[in-house]
Amino acid sequence: MGLNVIMMGPPGAGKGTQAGRFARERGLLKISTGDILRAAIKADSPVGLRAKTLMHRGELVDDATMIDIVRERLLQPDAQPGFVLDGFPRTVVQAEALDRIVAERNNGPLVVVDVRVPEKELVRRLASRLICSKCGANAELPKAGEPAAARCARCGGELVQRVDDNEQVVLERLKVYERETKPLVEFYRDRPTFRIVNGAQGLERVAHELDTVIDDAALVGAKEAAAEAVKAVSPEKAARA
Ligand code: AMP
Repeated sequence: MGLNVIMMGPPGAGKGTQAGRFARERGLLKISTGDILRAAIKADSPVGLRAKTLMHRGELVDDATMIDIVRERLLQPDAQPGFVLDGFPRTVVQAEALDRIVAERNNGPLVVVDVRVPEKELVRRLASRLICSKCGANAELPKAGEPAAARCARCGGELVQRVDDNEQVVLERLKVYERETKPLVEFYRDRPTFRIVNGAQGLERVAHELDTVIDDAALVGAKEAAAEAVKAVSPEKAARA
């Protein structure tokens, strides 16, 4: 059975880094809709041309485009073991579409983790963040007393600031998050597979908390799915259980 995870949280919460690590360690497909759009912009594709201005202003790309991108990606064979989504869903319409896609795939529970970080810390992180222009990885933060790295630790690519990481756009992105994406907490929070993690801690600590809560939620989700399956086959047996 597959494992499907949504890594939720505001920009700068560390979702991308943690989603990448978790997906690598568990052999799952990481899908970052922001990375897909940045690649589309670089390639001057029709989606890239549509997304460019919106992204640079910190606004959201339309739901239909984003749902098509994710649906298409989730149908590829490498998504079979499961996925970790970073940056999707961002609206309730996207979340409803994702529920339909997950039901169609019928392959493992959907675990939703909300990574929380106070707004002041987010602004500080985003304004000083650098990413690799080649592989998109976040630059390692220098240890106390050490200078910041000049090139990507993973692939040697040049480190650059994202165009939407300047202070004015960061504030707009946080506003858009509050308005469009935070309502998703309401959408998911009564599910037995919804969990909250404190993202305002060291990377290792956040990683450990995530591993623990995702495994726990996946187990709960699998049990729930098994109970649903019994109910579908034999409603009397399910009523007696
Ligand atoms: P991210 O790298 O996740 O911070 O995304 C960067 C930008 O890409 C966002 O500010 C949006 O403009 C756009 N974007 C990424 N994912 C989505 C999505 N699911 N829905 C709408 N816009 C998105």
